[in-house]
Amino acid sequence: MARYKDEQCRICRREGQKLFLKGSRCYTDKCSISRRNYAPGQHGQRRTKLSEYGTQLREKQRTKSYYGVAEKQFRKYFEMASNKKGITGTNLLQILESRLDNVVYRLGFGSSRAQARQLVNHGQFEVNGKKVDIASYLVKPGDIVAVRESKKDNATIKANAEENAAKPVPEWLEKNNETLSGKVVRLASREDIDIPIEEHLIVELYSK
Ligand code: SF4
Repeated sequence: MARYKDEQCRICRREGQKLFLKGSRCYTDKCSISRRNYAPGQHGQRRTKLSEYGTQLREKQRTKSYYGVAEKQFRKYFEMASNKKGITGTNLLQILESRLDNVVYRLGFGSSRAQARQLVNHGQFEVNGKKVDIASYLVKPGDIVAVRESKKDNATIKANAEENAAKPVPEWLEKNNETLSGKVVRLASREDIDIPIEEHLIVELYSK
């Protein structure tokens, strides 16, 4: 996707936070945030105080960047979240976590959400035995996400699975590294979602 090709680290620097958009590099000292933790551009080191609206907007942009979701789709998720029972902000994060590309990333078969999205789009995965090549597909409790039989030799997936073999997966998922598959035990709760997002700011922004 063009929007992430060369810009990942600049997005993190603009948000002043690691968004883990580049896979294993994000965990090394080559990470741009570790080296230059200020916004990109000529005036990046200036301190600016954001307005209430600016703070809410930044939180929305940061969340979109985390999950690699465009504005239109994000808005649609917000509407789905508002129409569900419960807390809208939590519902929104739960929907984002349920995307197939995120699940593939969380299971460790993609090194980043962007790579996981590409792998899904290229038809490497199935859900409950059926090929699914739509990254925005929303999983449900009980679903089995797996690398398709004919794709199990994919070098990228195998390398990721090996590298992440010992890495724990969130409690709402179960991973089987032998079969390159995972089960959605339940939907993610707020406590399961480890990203530092203040989702109430997004709700306030869209409620204006
Ligand atoms: Fe963000 Fe990863 Fe680049 Fe660090 S290496 S700035 S976490 S995309």
